[in-house]
Amino acid sequence: MATDAKINGAPERTRMILLGTKFHRVRKTVQLICFIVFILLPLFDVVRFDLPRQRFYFFGAELWISEFSIIFLSMMFLWILVAAMAMIYGRFYCGYLCPQMIFSEAANTLEKRITRLVNRKLSKRGPGLRRMLAIALFSVVLLPASVFVTFVFVSYFVPPADLLHRLLTLDIRTAGGIVGASVTLVTLLDFAFLRQRFCTAICPYGYLQNMLADKHTLQVHYQDEEGKCIHCEKCVLACPMGIDIRLSSHQLECTHCAECIDGCSTVLGRMGREPLIHYAWGDAGKSAAEERWYRRIGLRDGKRVAVLALLLIYASGLSVAISMRQPVMVRIMPDRITLYTKGPDGLIHNRFRLLVSNRGKSQARVTLSLAGLPACKILGVEDGVTLQPGETLQREFDIAAAAAAVSPGVNHLSILTHVEPAQKDGLFAETFIAPMETHPPGGPENKQ
Ligand code: SF4
Ligand code: SF4
Repeated sequence: MATDAKINGAPERTRMILLGTKFHRVRKTVQLICFIVFILLPLFDVVRFDLPRQRFYFFGAELWISEFSIIFLSMMFLWILVAAMAMIYGRFYCGYLCPQMIFSEAANTLEKRITRLVNRKLSKRGPGLRRMLAIALFSVVLLPASVFVTFVFVSYFVPPADLLHRLLTLDIRTAGGIVGASVTLVTLLDFAFLRQRFCTAICPYGYLQNMLADKHTLQVHYQDEEGKCIHCEKCVLACPMGIDIRLSSHQLECTHCAECIDGCSTVLGRMGREPLIHYAWGDAGKSAAEERWYRRIGLRDGKRVAVLALLLIYASGLSVAISMRQPVMVRIMPDRITLYTKGPDGLIHNRFRLLVSNRGKSQARVTLSLAGLPACKILGVEDGVTLQPGETLQREFDIAAAAAAVSPGVNHLSILTHVEPAQKDGLFAETFIAPMETHPPGGPENKQ
């Protein structure tokens, strides 16, 4: 099992949790909110992929794979949001919002508490037995916790109800069940052995954040030009990543969580001194609290203003695209393999194909009508089509007219579509093909 006292090869120390200190309190509150949000996002379709059905849910809207423009805008918006966060606020995400960090720290705390409990209750037993018992107890708690975390994580990609059914039936035979069981195992091993090592050894976002950071990025900065450090090591003991901020303010492992600020404030505060570690914008070490409001929120140069403007443009484009989105998609295509046929009713027929998808959450009804060629009528879908939520239908239908009532060759007409519940009516400009000879002398009537 991992021990938070020896992360990333740092010397072994017992980590100290500074309960009740400023940043620790803020961080734990934000982490609790993030934990709840992490669980709720897929349950309420705020952000969720549905891989089996090829859907993407974004703030309640069910986007189909065919809605490429909205999916593209959503992806670009999320990507720029992530990049802007890293550029302006550095590793704030890692220290405050990341589920991996939240669960790693929870696993550390849980392991420590169980070890302490076992040591207290069985103080007369040997250390080997106590250690084994602590590991066994920790594993008993870790297994259901890993199943829960995996359930939430996988429900970002598979409908939660489907997932719950698989879990309750202990499905490890189908592909979905095997994937779920494998992810549970990886999660279990992660929280048992890796924890914060994942952040520095595996996580690509950590590397990306370091690449995007520059001299204006928010960071946790150690500054002691006057040699005021009393070498109490409280900052080191408080660090969840097991590093010493005094060696450099640019260590890859540093998640900018500010626990070391709390440590230093606690010690030096008792002596009436200012802490030597603080949040600062870049290397200048200037405290974040010392500047104008727009600089305090991170708008420190043109690059950041440009990124935020870009984010705003994508957010506006996305809102417009979602607001203009029609829940029922209607497509009409002419079947031009056969230009026209003459039916048993003596009329000239042109074949069309209707494709409708109900992407909404209620039943929908689509009806067609014609405009621009009064002699024509619709055959095959005269009564319209009804679709259940999520249903896609394809129907073939004819537009028919008496040969004498239309011009020989190409005639122009419009097919109008109307959807209930109401959405914007559609208009498809189409052509009706009639024989060049409207009164052929008894020859074949089908034209290929
Ligand atoms: S050095 Fe400070 S800010 Fe960085 S991870 Fe450690 S405690 Fe957090
Ligand atoms: S907590 Fe402050 S005073 Fe103590 S070692 Fe760290 S930087 Fe120095």
